[in-house]
Amino acid sequence: MNMQSPNFIAVEKWTGKALFSDWQTTGAGAIEVRDPATDALLASVGLGGPADIARAAAEAKQAQRAWAKTLPTERAAILNKAADLLVANGEELIGWIMRESGSIQPKAGIEIEHGALFIRHAANLATQPTGLVLSGFDNRTNYAKRVPHGVVGVISPFNFPLVLSVRAIAAALALGNAVVHKPDPRTAISGGIIIARIFEEAGLPKGVLQIVPGGADAGEAICTDPNIAMVSFTGSARGGSKVGELCGKHLKKVQLELGGKNALIVLDDADLDIAASNAAWGAFLHQGQICMATGLILAHNSIAEALTEKLVAKASHLPAGDPSSGRVALGPIISDGQVATIQAIVDDAVAKGAKLLAGGTHDGRFYAATVLDGVKPGMRAFEEEIFGPVACIVRFASDEEAVEIANMSDYGLAAGVISAASGRALALGEQLNVGQLHINDQTVNGGPFAPFGGRGKSGNGSRIGGPADIEEFTQWMWISVKDQATAYPF
Ligand code: NAD
Repeated sequence: MNMQSPNFIAVEKWTGKALFSDWQTTGAGAIEVRDPATDALLASVGLGGPADIARAAAEAKQAQRAWAKTLPTERAAILNKAADLLVANGEELIGWIMRESGSIQPKAGIEIEHGALFIRHAANLATQPTGLVLSGFDNRTNYAKRVPHGVVGVISPFNFPLVLSVRAIAAALALGNAVVHKPDPRTAISGGIIIARIFEEAGLPKGVLQIVPGGADAGEAICTDPNIAMVSFTGSARGGSKVGELCGKHLKKVQLELGGKNALIVLDDADLDIAASNAAWGAFLHQGQICMATGLILAHNSIAEALTEKLVAKASHLPAGDPSSGRVALGPIISDGQVATIQAIVDDAVAKGAKLLAGGTHDGRFYAATVLDGVKPGMRAFEEEIFGPVACIVRFASDEEAVEIANMSDYGLAAGVISAASGRALALGEQLNVGQLHINDQTVNGGPFAPFGGRGKSGNGSRIGGPADIEEFTQWMWISVKDQATAYPF
């Protein structure tokens, strides 16, 4: 069966609307979705406010009861069909992701490929064993089974909008939950409409997935709504802290997947061409707008000069511009405000003694690949997640010092160590306070089969993906069964 349609996205269906049990206008009006590279108007979608979230949550709660009773094989079949549709219509959808989120083609392609992998992984979750037979203290039967939470609220960011939305939505749905999803309003299509369309066409019952683009007010409404039992949030530490506070107050389970300041440690025995290529990919992919971006490059004193030279040569040859031209390595930064933040962090580092060896300037939203050497504690570039294409080099004298510097961060998401001796790299890496450690690779790695998440300011100890999904998106129910009721002493 050919599932490819010439206009799969079906703009006319959803212009000015959001997905409740059906496509409907929202109470909060509509938002214009624009291409950050050109400012061209791409589409308009419904903008949700707190009243829209309340409506979506009530409708989702209604729909969830029947959804939880569907056969696991039925849920798996719908999910697998949604993944098939994503891949079959990939070419059209990649164009939307490129234009809406300022992604170069390979990055948009990764979103489709990984998005489909996450959905297929979720389909497999639906048919996993769901319980345990427990030993007891009398002759009744005791067992425990995993049950869905009910309605899961999903809140996602702009940077990898499709993957970061679908990884939570698909797992929650597979395990019998309904979902109210709020994508970032800047990427309402890649993080919302595309997902709505694949599940709609795959035959997901109406009401089970509600997608309402909106801002912080809609996100906060998800955290306080009495019909929503759990919130899965991916975004900044600042947003996550607010979400955690509200969910705590309203006694909801909350999963927080937050930012990072990820160290790539290059040891003295590393192949420097390979190390420079890893550093460039980790620091510059998607303009550095990735939670796992390589935020610090820790280079051993003996190789730092040569590594820096190679990295500067790479940075100077990476063109920034409109991804639709097909000729650039770096696209636009998501907003003018974020460009100003990047510039302020670079200027602060230079004012405090860092050497600017490449970039450090921008043409509108196109920020040049930048290399700063001599980055130190006390500089914003050392401490903060930049979310821009800035490679920050820090030198160290011993493996122990590399560990000490990397562990100075409040974040703890990902790290990489590059060395000719993988055992030495592993021994060093295991001392790092991170959720993901990559030996002989840079820091940007993700996929459906690993439990992904961070320590410190990078999260609240939750994980998403792989074996973590059943733990996160279901809860235990203990059931005891006596043949017949018996009398108590009073
Ligand atoms: P952000 O926190 O500002 O926004 C993320 C989402 O949260 C958006 O949908 C936004 O509308 C919503 N939001 C913002 N304030 C909220 C509030 N008070 N209550 C409820 N919802 C709220 O994040 P951003 O700066 O747009 O995104 C980039 C951040 O996300 C970076 O810090 C990045 O590292 C992080 N991130 C983390 C992961 C991960 O898996 N750990 C993945 C990608 C991005």
